[in-house]
Amino acid sequence: MTVEIPPQHEASLANSDLRPDEGWNVLYVDGEWVRPDHDRTLSVRDPSTGDELTTVPAGTEADTDRAFESADEAQSEWADATPAERAGVLREVASLLEEHEDELVRLLGLEAGGCRAKSAIECGITQELVSLTSSLPYRVNGEQSGSPIPGKQNNVLREPVGVVGVITPWNYPLNLALRAIAPALALGNAVVLKPDEKTPVVGGLALARLFEEAGLPDGLFNVVPGRGEEVGDHLSSHEDASVVSFTGSTEVGYTIAENAAENLTPPLLELGGNCPHVVLEDADVDRAIDAGVFGSFIHQGQGCISINRHLVHESLYDEYVERLAERAEALPIGDPLDPETVIGPIIDDGQRDRIVSLVEESREEGAVVRAGGDHDGRFVEPTVLSGVDNNMPIADCEHFGPIAPVIPFETDEEAVRLANDTEYGLAASVHSESERRAWEVADEIDAGMIHLNDQPVNDDPHTPFGGVKSSGLGRYNDQWMISELTETKWVSVQQSSREYPF
Ligand code: NAD
Repeated sequence: MTVEIPPQHEASLANSDLRPDEGWNVLYVDGEWVRPDHDRTLSVRDPSTGDELTTVPAGTEADTDRAFESADEAQSEWADATPAERAGVLREVASLLEEHEDELVRLLGLEAGGCRAKSAIECGITQELVSLTSSLPYRVNGEQSGSPIPGKQNNVLREPVGVVGVITPWNYPLNLALRAIAPALALGNAVVLKPDEKTPVVGGLALARLFEEAGLPDGLFNVVPGRGEEVGDHLSSHEDASVVSFTGSTEVGYTIAENAAENLTPPLLELGGNCPHVVLEDADVDRAIDAGVFGSFIHQGQGCISINRHLVHESLYDEYVERLAERAEALPIGDPLDPETVIGPIIDDGQRDRIVSLVEESREEGAVVRAGGDHDGRFVEPTVLSGVDNNMPIADCEHFGPIAPVIPFETDEEAVRLANDTEYGLAASVHSESERRAWEVADEIDAGMIHLNDQPVNDDPHTPFGGVKSSGLGRYNDQWMISELTETKWVSVQQSSREYPF
């Protein structure tokens, strides 16, 4: 297999209409594009070619402290802003996302290696999310109640938590940043964001441009690009962070939780997954395969909710494997900026090597390659494996690649046992012609999100997104973010004289 990348990539990030006048080698702090007072940088590379696209600052602890200081100073006035003011900024950002959609799709292709279909879906979901989030300022409702004490009225209020620290990954960088930033700001908080090292532009600095253009007051949104073990570590243990929102690997999630616990700061964690796509004996195989192709191969399988394992009833197994393999082989691989491409590059050499060796180790244990199996540079062919069991490396780990291991089962009970035999519990899908039977299986699967007769890659901005077991803590989206990003306060009013016992 050989993949050619045309020179159009040279257009790079320098031509972006979202680029600040100061260039990309800046921090965004207190409403200013600032050159740091050091010359440490991170090289942002095109996953398709490995070429450098730009450099951004490798932020320091001092840069992070300045961002928290400005966030903290700006937050109280923002908390007192009217719902209309906060909603107005969010509505404006939603409309800017739409206006700049083509450019954001291009940036997602350049920095994250996302093909156009994936990037367009990400942009669309993010526009919906931000638009819906603009209603949150009007939906933060308090409660009033009586009391066992005569003459007392109880009020339960919800107030902004303060400054929200946000750390994001590279795979869906636009969406995974804005799903934390937008509700945090809508609810009267300020934000300090550390985007992933690989996507600091489309997942960070470009977003600051949108909020700046939307008229967000200075200091409320700050972006400090930097390394995880430096800026990320300092941010998650910062005493001025009131909530730490983290999306990334389970391994780092545990570190974030420990850091946050030092200050009793609540962590909001969206972590890894090992999502099963369960095809029961009475499934509509056409629909199960259509869903399986999309859920396994969108963004080269680099999603926490991608299908990691296909669990297929033994009576359908041979047909399913054969047809899935045919479909996988037909997927166009190549330049993610080419509208025809479905399979773009893997994010970096390290992830590529890991995927290739998981396939190789599983082959040594008896898995059979039915489609794909080869790679050129960072482009890995969509690969279908049969003869897989749940304990092989490709099924046991979150492989994060365009790999579809297919595992047979005999009974619904066995399917449930296999589905649950993982440390993760993020998302799953179940196919059956009988909705009732699919529900019965879904009820037994330990996951935060289950989709019947579909596949796991779903994110509706008005539904709760999150996992159980080692897949995380808390729920993103809509009203669930009101609980995560506001503090509850009880204010009682003794309206008449109270009789005390002494
Ligand atoms: P990662 O955990 O390595 O990195 C994510 C972020 O954490 C980056 O910004 C990184 O700089 C930062 N980081 C790394 N080390 C840190 C440290 N010691 N302290 C503080 N921050 C640190 O994850 P990744 O490999 O880039 O992303 C893939 C993982 O993210 C997968 O496991 C995937 O399932 C998960 N993910 C989960 C969701 C979800 O919603 N559940 C969504 C997308 C990705």
